[in-house]
Amino acid sequence: MKIHADFECGNIRVLNVEGNHVYLQNELRGTTRDYFYWAFCVEGAQGQTLSFHLDKEWVGNYGAAVSHDLIHWQWMDSRDDGFSFTYRFGEDEDKVYFAHDLVYTPARLRAVLCELGLSAESLCLTPKGREVPLLRIGNGSRPIVLASRHHSCESPGTYVLEGVLREYLASPIEDTSLFVVPFADYDGVCDGDQGKGRAPFDHNRDYTDAPIYPEVREIIRFAKENPVYMGFDFHAPGHSGGARCGKIFVVRKFAEKEPLFDTFGQLFEAACGEDAVKYFVSGDIHPNVGWNKDATPTFSTFFNTLEGCRFACTLENTFFGTAENKVTAEKLVNTGRAFCRAVRKFAEQLES
Ligand SMILES: [Zn+2]
Repeated sequence: MKIHADFECGNIRVLNVEGNHVYLQNELRGTTRDYFYWAFCVEGAQGQTLSFHLDKEWVGNYGAAVSHDLIHWQWMDSRDDGFSFTYRFGEDEDKVYFAHDLVYTPARLRAVLCELGLSAESLCLTPKGREVPLLRIGNGSRPIVLASRHHSCESPGTYVLEGVLREYLASPIEDTSLFVVPFADYDGVCDGDQGKGRAPFDHNRDYTDAPIYPEVREIIRFAKENPVYMGFDFHAPGHSGGARCGKIFVVRKFAEKEPLFDTFGQLFEAACGEDAVKYFVSGDIHPNVGWNKDATPTFSTFFNTLEGCRFACTLENTFFGTAENKVTAEKLVNTGRAFCRAVRKFAEQLES
């Protein structure tokens, strides 16, 4: 049996194996605070029943997410407790991936682009020499900028972004185009880093006059050279705890923009059907409440203060949801579709 993290988005350290019990720890790497992301592969355990124990309480409500191809994930729907889960490997299950959540891998993006007949351009090279995928869609004169994974472990945001893409392709928004960076910390995504709280600061704190990360530098360059109409950045908050953790919510910026956020939030809430992880406008975090400071140099702050940009926000998406509003990959994609429908209606109202 082999347990490893030698794949895109992998992150694990094997501490010990005792009989059918495997003891594991996730790797923080460049992150300056404790964080929850892990993902590993087990090969050659067919027919066995193994219990996996993390050293911290980093197993979610539905146990591990499980995949056989790094593209499709589903919840085990069981766990021993917040530290542990037990998996019975089928007789022909010779390779199984387990993760903290429904990981949105670069492999999934490649599969989706292939399905949709799209191809990625290169935004820039990462510090490790990887080409960062950039999608340009449509020819309208008003670009909308979409991004996710400024915090590399926050996969739910990328499922929602995929839903926005699918809806936009099916029904474009008049006179707009899309500039899409699905993996804003591409090295972090590929390597399986936490990303959040990365030293000296993370990618979503790099929206300054002198950005240090090439992806952020290129997003800022595009925004300064083009008449950006709107900007949206898709995230996911912590593992558990906090009133908002199981919810989807908008991070609002600038008190004078509250009426815009009210209008958009109502449209988004109305657009979310039973097939989506639902968003409720009442869950939004208001400007300068708690950690949500207008002055923090984020994607959202940058686009909210960019001349000509009519609307921008961060959408926080949940890893697990709640019992009555549970996360699946398909439902997160449908949340993205609803988001895009809301943006379309919102744009129509802005122009009317
Ligand atoms: Zn985030």
